[in-house]
Amino acid sequence: MDLKVGVIGTGGIGQEHIRRLTNVITGAKVTAVSDINEGTAQKIAEKYGAKFYKTGEEVINAPEVDAVVIASWDQTHAGYVLESIKLGKYVFCEKPLATTADECKDIMNAEIQSKRHLVQVGFMRRFDRGYRELKEIIKSGKLGSTLMIHACHRNLTHIPSHTTDMTITNSGIHEIDISRWLLDEEYESGQVLTVKQNCNSSKELLDPQIIQLKTKSGVRIDVEVNMSSGYGYDIQCEIVCEKGAVRLPDPNKPLVRYNCQRSYEIYEDWSQRFIEAYDIEFQEWVNSVKSNKLTGPNSWDGYIACVTADALIKSRNIGAAQDILTIDKPQFYK
Ligand code: NAP
Repeated sequence: MDLKVGVIGTGGIGQEHIRRLTNVITGAKVTAVSDINEGTAQKIAEKYGAKFYKTGEEVINAPEVDAVVIASWDQTHAGYVLESIKLGKYVFCEKPLATTADECKDIMNAEIQSKRHLVQVGFMRRFDRGYRELKEIIKSGKLGSTLMIHACHRNLTHIPSHTTDMTITNSGIHEIDISRWLLDEEYESGQVLTVKQNCNSSKELLDPQIIQLKTKSGVRIDVEVNMSSGYGYDIQCEIVCEKGAVRLPDPNKPLVRYNCQRSYEIYEDWSQRFIEAYDIEFQEWVNSVKSNKLTGPNSWDGYIACVTADALIKSRNIGAAQDILTIDKPQFYK
């Protein structure tokens, strides 16, 4: 039987997820939708044969909803996740899990009290074929211990409402999550450095920024987060080990010879670059919900990402590296 899914937020990624739940993956059906922008949500509901609700709370409470997908603004995530846990419903929350570490703690406490793992966070890079291969190679041990990661996250351009902090909490958060997932270890400290301003970014936005992280074993990570690359959406990662180095493959695109040039296409945004990762992420989520055993990134991962982002923002504001201080990992998440 299909898993009946309610989706809150029918903007860019909400529409993408509704399309993939309906047309790409198996075992799920979108039965209810809502968005603060009611006109769009109504059209999407009609297109996919789902029921339109005025509020996210109504979607979560709807009898035809077994599991919830949250794809609304960052600030709304924590409230909808808590409501879903209250009703004992599985919930897939787009990143970030919440906008503060305290909200993440509330979510963990609610989940622990419910005695069920109900929450998955949308860190889709963990489902990307390239990142999975990188992890396999470094875990095999043939390159020796990992020493450093050099990464970059370049967007073609940024939305007008993008802020200096969102570079860390909304974009850089993927880098925060993927590096600790690749390394299987936690961070000790971190710092954000600012760079000469990119004239293509809005004047209010500090752009680019460089994230530096140090893990407990001493691995150093540096990430350029650049919201206005001017040429495309480009995600790079190179892991340097004692006996070798390994680099994230670029997406497989045809090599074009034309007009005295050789060229590859570079994607414009995340929805194209990670399309396969999102598909795998949702298929695995639906399968794991149906077998009552979530396997993807959980509330603890969402919490660590938030704590790290908070420390990084503080480091930028005061101009010094910050320790990344977390609560002890609850037994429930071990
Ligand atoms: P978006 O296009 O602005 O869509 C967000 C939608 O949520 C908009 O339609 C917005 O309405 C609506 N909304 C705002 N508050 C709401 C509320 N209280 N209840 C219901 N709907 C509400 O943004 P997006 O790019 O799809 O991003 C949505 C979320 O997904 C964000 O949290 C973002 O961080 C995350 N995301 C994740 C990835 C990833 O790679 N995993 C990629 C992109 C986005 P209006 O149209 O009126 O503003």
